[in-house]
Amino acid sequence: MNYVLCDKLKKLTPYDPIEGDYKIRLDANESFINLNDSIKQQISEAVWEIDYNRYPDPYATKACKAFADFYNVDPALVTASNGSDEIIAVIIGSFLQKGEKLLTFSQDFSMYKLYGEIYEADNVICPKENLRLTLNEAEKLIKEQNIKAVIFSNPCNPTSLGENKENVIKFIKNTEALVILDEAYMDFWNESLLDIVNDFDNLIILKTCSKAFGLAAIRLGFAVANQRLTTAIRAAKSPYNVNSVTQKIGEIVLSNKKYLKECIASIIDMKNYLYTLLTQNFGDKFEIINSNTNFVYFKPMNPKEIFEKLLSKGIAIRYMGDYLRISAGSKDEINQLITVLKDIVQI
Ligand SMILES: *Cc1c(COP(=O)(O)O)cnc(C)c1O
Repeated sequence: MNYVLCDKLKKLTPYDPIEGDYKIRLDANESFINLNDSIKQQISEAVWEIDYNRYPDPYATKACKAFADFYNVDPALVTASNGSDEIIAVIIGSFLQKGEKLLTFSQDFSMYKLYGEIYEADNVICPKENLRLTLNEAEKLIKEQNIKAVIFSNPCNPTSLGENKENVIKFIKNTEALVILDEAYMDFWNESLLDIVNDFDNLIILKTCSKAFGLAAIRLGFAVANQRLTTAIRAAKSPYNVNSVTQKIGEIVLSNKKYLKECIASIIDMKNYLYTLLTQNFGDKFEIINSNTNFVYFKPMNPKEIFEKLLSKGIAIRYMGDYLRISAGSKDEINQLITVLKDIVQI
């Protein structure tokens, strides 16, 4: 009985999502739209044909092709992953040597820093200003501290704010570091760099099917980069990282372009509806950020109390220190949320 965990592991605790049966789930930025019956039927028929005794296609060729068609990018520059979380871990674990510096921003997606720690990168944190990216500051830090890679989300989870394309392009051109640009929420905005990814020798763009495409259950993400970086990512990932069922479902759903575009439009509508109702009812009490994503981020006086009272009424949202984050739900879910919230805040 003397096995001792190494220091980096001792510091970690398992990811702690909200557990339990809540009637309204607005805590994880998932899509509120489940697949329709016609697509589910196509999937049922297609998975029947899978060779379950065989390993999956290591390069998820058909899913990557469907993704590339949807975004109009070259499929040769696309690598599929078991959720974008997996590819974030693979990239941070392989593009940095132990002790090399990884720049992240605060606040941003918490997984970046976690993987930096696990892979023994030296995490450098660049503070945001008024919740906005500080790219000029980052540029300076990268030069002064010899930073090897920088990762950030645009638009950002959790702030919901986006940075204009021009500023991001200028930043990438001015730095020699690897830039890992997480566009998980870019389907809800329109400042993507996907169409010009090949113009940069130091850019990897990450995408996920968990948010706009409503496929959180199947775990499917993508990395898009020039040929040289793509070859490196493919060499570093585990060979059969995306299972055959996920590849098949991804291929089918991503081929339904019109359906996906309609889903995205509905999600944006509901985010706007949520933002409008929050502003109308609580605009004088909460600081509410005007979102470029599928969720709304805001700062009330008593976040913890609001979060706990909503939970006790069966509504899960995300508690994040001074702020709360609410994902766009269906109209009915948003109406119920607002009714309960009015009660809690006593309007
Ligand atoms: C949700 C999210 C992801 C994770 O996506 P998965 O594909 O489900 O792993 C990645 N980046 C950001 C910023 C996210 O919010």
